[in-house]
Amino acid sequence: MKITVVTNNPHKAREIGLFFGGVAEVTHVALECPEVRDNSVKTIAEKKAEYAYQILKRPLICDDTGFYIHALRGFPGPYAAFVQETIGNEGILRLMEGVSDRKAFFETAIAYADGNDIRVFSGRIQGRVVAPRGTGGFGYDPIFEWRGRTLAEMSPEEKNRVSHRARALRRLRDFLIARV
Ligand code: IMP
Repeated sequence: MKITVVTNNPHKAREIGLFFGGVAEVTHVALECPEVRDNSVKTIAEKKAEYAYQILKRPLICDDTGFYIHALRGFPGPYAAFVQETIGNEGILRLMEGVSDRKAFFETAIAYADGNDIRVFSGRIQGRVVAPRGTGGFGYDPIFEWRGRTLAEMSPEEKNRVSHRARALRRLRDFLIARV
């Protein structure tokens, strides 16, 4: 089985490659896909995959991830990339100063396109916003704690067992295996 991961984010490409290791041959294309503005990461991922398939014409996946903070009513949600580039983790922590409700979750939508169909699989992980810890991962990982450790304190293999992305990828993998 061959799958192309279309993303400009080398961290995502690495996590997806690691996940499919031994199961599928994964190649990475850093194609810039226009991102529609939508409140659903599922729709954003689907539109990216539709665009990428028109250009690459081979089975591929696109990922879109949101970060939802309960006390901020879901902010930054699907605007997580813009917020990470602007105020960053430091800005998020400032917004959370004195806030006791630390609940947050990630949601990743993985859209798979193969020319017949586009299917979207999603995965979530619920955790807490904390002061930064750890040097692994990327993005919000250092300030997101799950069961006592931040995602940045986990090895890539551990993160890939429990993360929002891994949960979505497991659903995609089950779908692909059931099809053959
Ligand atoms: P996008 O899916 O590329 O739009 O990513 C949204 C934002 O969330 C970016 O700033 C990413 O760095 C961040 N992000 C995506 N996936 C993860 C993750 O697994 N951990 C932490 N941050 C992430």
